[in-house]
Amino acid sequence: MSDFFENDIKYLKGVGEARAKTLAKEIGVANFRDLLYYFPFRHIDRSRFFSISELHGEDLPALQIKGQFISFSTEGEGVRKRLKGIFTDGRKMIETVWFNNINYFSSQYRPGVEYVIFGAPKIFNHVYSISHPEVELYNPEKPPTGFRGVYTLTETMRKKGFSVLTLRRLIAEVIKMPGFQQIKETLPAEIVDRYHLMPLKEALVNMHFPASHAEMQKAVERFKFEELYYIELNILRFSMERGAKIRGYAFSRIGEKFNGFYNHHLPFALTGAQKRVLKEIWADMKTGRQMNRLLQGDVGSGKTMVAFLTSLMALDNGFQAAIMAPTEILASQHFAVIKEWGDKCGINVALLTGSTRQSERRHIHEDLENGSLNILIGTHALLEDRVKFKNLGVVVIDEQHRFGVAQRAKMWNKGETAPHVLVMTATPIPRTLAMTVYGDLDVSVIDELPPGRTPVTTLVRWDNGRVEVDNLIFNQLRLGRQIYIVYPLIKENEKLDLKSLEMGYQRTCDTFVGVPVCYVHGKMRPEEKEAQMEKFVKGEARIMVSTTVIEVGVNVPNATVMVIENAERFGLSQLHQLRGRVGRGADRSYCVLMGKQTSGADTKKRLSIMAETTDGFLISEADMKMRGPGDMEGTMQSGMPFSLRVANLAKDGQILNRAREAAMAVLAGTQPLLSEGAAPSPNEKIESPIRLNDYEIYMTRKELRLRFAKDVDWSLIS
Ligand code: ADP
Ligand code: MG
Repeated sequence: MSDFFENDIKYLKGVGEARAKTLAKEIGVANFRDLLYYFPFRHIDRSRFFSISELHGEDLPALQIKGQFISFSTEGEGVRKRLKGIFTDGRKMIETVWFNNINYFSSQYRPGVEYVIFGAPKIFNHVYSISHPEVELYNPEKPPTGFRGVYTLTETMRKKGFSVLTLRRLIAEVIKMPGFQQIKETLPAEIVDRYHLMPLKEALVNMHFPASHAEMQKAVERFKFEELYYIELNILRFSMERGAKIRGYAFSRIGEKFNGFYNHHLPFALTGAQKRVLKEIWADMKTGRQMNRLLQGDVGSGKTMVAFLTSLMALDNGFQAAIMAPTEILASQHFAVIKEWGDKCGINVALLTGSTRQSERRHIHEDLENGSLNILIGTHALLEDRVKFKNLGVVVIDEQHRFGVAQRAKMWNKGETAPHVLVMTATPIPRTLAMTVYGDLDVSVIDELPPGRTPVTTLVRWDNGRVEVDNLIFNQLRLGRQIYIVYPLIKENEKLDLKSLEMGYQRTCDTFVGVPVCYVHGKMRPEEKEAQMEKFVKGEARIMVSTTVIEVGVNVPNATVMVIENAERFGLSQLHQLRGRVGRGADRSYCVLMGKQTSGADTKKRLSIMAETTDGFLISEADMKMRGPGDMEGTMQSGMPFSLRVANLAKDGQILNRAREAAMAVLAGTQPLLSEGAAPSPNEKIESPIRLNDYEIYMTRKELRLRFAKDVDWSLIS
């Protein structure tokens, strides 16, 4: 009976061809499995009745009210015809409305009889009204107990007479069938036991018809666990396979170059976090497996020094190092710093970007191939075919989101031993997300800033604070400092009432007369953009007006003010990135979040979090909790990380940990992969790909596929 799940929904009592079509089309329910796995998004306590006087505000959830109908009347003509019922709980009244099957409903319910009505009240013409409520007789001898599920239904379904009640009846019907008892467990029995999970059948019943709150929670937990378990299994398996296929160099010593610099030329004492991270990196590079590590460190946490010392580890083993940055400006900034460090201990460092002159380029190519060049810093130019290393041992990629896996893979040839890879990012990714989404990377975190930083003073100001903000800018300009002003959009958009960059540029020039202003936005050509950036970096322009394109990595220590217009439009993580552009020098710095006066309480709370903390990880956790993981700017472009049905990465970190542990045990060979006869999962279909940075992720429960989204040959690495 293993195909009980596969039974076409149309054979279920009360369904038939027409309804089956609707179910399939509207909510993707085509067979028994789909129906059983069509979980409620919420559970309602059946013993809890609301009184109408308790209802406040808009956006109310579906709820139960007990009472009687006072009267029914039909209103409107033709398609607008509707049945209106006035319902009272004995004190106040609420409207109920039906738009179809009017005759049926008007004959169905009688005034003077006690009912329980169920639905989400909405305000129409200043009164609460429930359209197409579910109505049940209330029996005082047997008052309702337990919990009931609330399901998502589409408008079309409601029009065709489907209610939550219908759906529940169908589900109950399937559960009653003898075949249901034959359903096989989909998790290995050992795992069900070890993690005290509710068995499948019981969990399915309790998802839909829980007898108690505790049982409902056990059921939900089981499905969350199962979902995360299979995701982890896939990701871990993927990374193991990759690890097995790609050989890495086994570095054996830390020698003269590293120790020489470390003991005699280190310009500052490393923070504890920097030291720890370096140990983690060294431990990777010793193994003979290719290092593939993501280094997360807040802006200003000192990742550049880690990149340099990592390079020295390669040098000491007779290898070269490459450091890639996403823009010429960033590459030049890295070069300036690292060249100075390298010069102190006789290390050859060169810079290669799109604008490197031909003659110099030739030199670099030569020196690379004969091995006299030790560290090459640059942009995408490093990926050109002509760039050939003698023996590249480690690649450091700064600001990870601009480079994809395929580009990483381009640094070495197929079949060769791969250089170690260290990817550095300032985007703080919450641990749960990093574990799932970047499961193929090991993660190190620099969670400590170098001592002696003056934290950036963050101010939240509304439109009426404009003069104060202008004065702050004037004062800082007078002190010789530079200013960033960031806008959310390029062009005026009346509908959203956003201040545009163009308007802002004009206003800035008009307000700060005679002060040189430059501007940058995403629609500019790269050369134009770099030229404008350059002006600001060199101090020729004192104010930079821009969109969020300046987010990544630029270091102008003389900039002390970051004004963010329409701050309510940005995600917290993004605000944090922007704020990181100031406070890089010794002077006191300011970040001003200009918000809209009329913003809601949520927005005000979000902005106040920014004023309260400068900890990027706290901010990104808060961001994820408030916005949901699918919404994290700077981490993902769009969409949920995976189509999770029940689990929530923001909240289910603990379950994720256990699921990951279980998956690891399976892959270590101490557990069977699946129980015998396990049914295929409800997630079997290939979901539409999820975009994540440069990847597209396709996932089914049986496999995970990553594809580089930009027409680059992904097979290079897989
Ligand atoms: P990020 O992690 O944002 O790339 P950087 O590497 O640019 O940060 O470092 C920011 C600044 O902090 C640089 O001026 C760097 O020299 C300095 N710095 C880095 N590590 C330390 C340290 N351990 N002690 C003091 N200053 C440090
Ligand atoms: Mg940096």
